[in-house]
Amino acid sequence: MDLELTEEQRAIREMVRDFAEKEIAPRAAEIDRRDEFPADVFAKMAAQGLLGLPIPEQYGGGGADTLSQALAVEEISRVSGSVGLTYAAHLSLGCMPIYNFGTEEQKQKWLVPLAKGEGLGSLALTESKGGSDLAGSVATTATLKGDEWIINGSKMYVTSGAVARSICALCITDKSKGHRGLSMILIPRGAPGLVIGKVEEKMGLHGSLTTQLFFEDCRVPKENLLGKEGEGFKQAMITLDGGRIGIGAMALGLGRAALEASIQYAQARTAFGQPLANFQAIQWMIADATMELQAARLLIAQAAWLKDTHQKFSLQAAMAKLYASEAADRACWKAIQIHGGAGYLRDFPVERFYRDNRLTTIGEGTSEILRLVIARTILKASA
Ligand SMILES: Cc1cc2nc3c(=O)[nH]c(=O)nc-3n(C[C@H](O)[C@H](O)[C@H](O)COP(=O)(O)OP(=O)(O)OC[C@H]3O[C@@H](n4cnc5c(N)ncnc54)[C@H](O)[C@@H]3O)c2cc1C
Repeated sequence: MDLELTEEQRAIREMVRDFAEKEIAPRAAEIDRRDEFPADVFAKMAAQGLLGLPIPEQYGGGGADTLSQALAVEEISRVSGSVGLTYAAHLSLGCMPIYNFGTEEQKQKWLVPLAKGEGLGSLALTESKGGSDLAGSVATTATLKGDEWIINGSKMYVTSGAVARSICALCITDKSKGHRGLSMILIPRGAPGLVIGKVEEKMGLHGSLTTQLFFEDCRVPKENLLGKEGEGFKQAMITLDGGRIGIGAMALGLGRAALEASIQYAQARTAFGQPLANFQAIQWMIADATMELQAARLLIAQAAWLKDTHQKFSLQAAMAKLYASEAADRACWKAIQIHGGAGYLRDFPVERFYRDNRLTTIGEGTSEILRLVIARTILKASA
């Protein structure tokens, strides 16, 4: 694995950083305060070619690799966690299942418009009985009647579910087969019987729509089955592996934002006649956050490299997401501490970074579940 970014990766990082600073940063605090879904920002991201960045060119995307995707998510999250999560979810959860498991026809019909930025994609796995025990908690059913799937049930916490062009939903198609009886079904916006529930009020990520979905005899054509019947659970696990690199990158962006704000503040603010940055206690916080975020960056890069070179990467993606999310949580905590009372005010951005990052230790595998994944993989390998 080469630790240097390629010319193309560097160019993508610069382009996205420039875009994020010009087009998103000035709106980020307002998006948070107003609980506003920034449709205008996504329209600009579409025009910039960002919404299909890692999708091959033949499907309307930019053909970039996984590390470039992670760099783009990081740069966007550095200015807005809300836009960062929506973007990461669109790519990893909305587009990737169709790219990885769809037929050529499905890719043309469903993936191309997402990659071109004609709408956002969503993945609906979690239900009210619990997200960690996915196989045990899915109760939504899809029954084939003639040429249509009839879907009944509900999903929770669906990122962009309220506005998505397409939703990929995990449903029971054969109850007798346990997790081998789960299948992914593509549901277009406006499908008969698809009811968009309430948009959740959250601690952070106020510009990202987190929605309940209800399926009331929701009807979609038979050909909307993604891949083969009974492969939904496996598809979900593979999708989450890739998604974890994205959530790790989102955390890295937020952690970096918190650290950068802290460095600036510690140099500008004085106490006892000198800049805060002169105090060793402050220096140690800056040193620890810098080191931990750099370690997170390397774990993310390694997971991305393994994925791009078609090697197993589940373990590394779990480690990258777990470590980056917790390192960023610590960096955001320290940022508030370094800012003192100002860190607790909404006038300064670090409280937003702290709230926004809190999701990253929960979504796409909680820290506890990721520790289980890591431990089980290691123990299995040495049994
Ligand atoms: C903002 C946001 C966006 C989201 N976006 C999406 C989305 O787009 N699509 C989607 O499908 N879902 C989405 N989710 C759902 C998310 O993936 C789940 O919240 C997450 O998987 C945890 O599931 P849960 O909330 O049901 O918690 P639970 O599974 O009920 O877990 C509760 C606690 O118990 C712990 N726990 C559970 N089982 C074990 C165990 N075996 N050992 C140790 N500890 C355990 C967990 O770690 C956690 O601490 C989103 C959630 C949020 C908050």
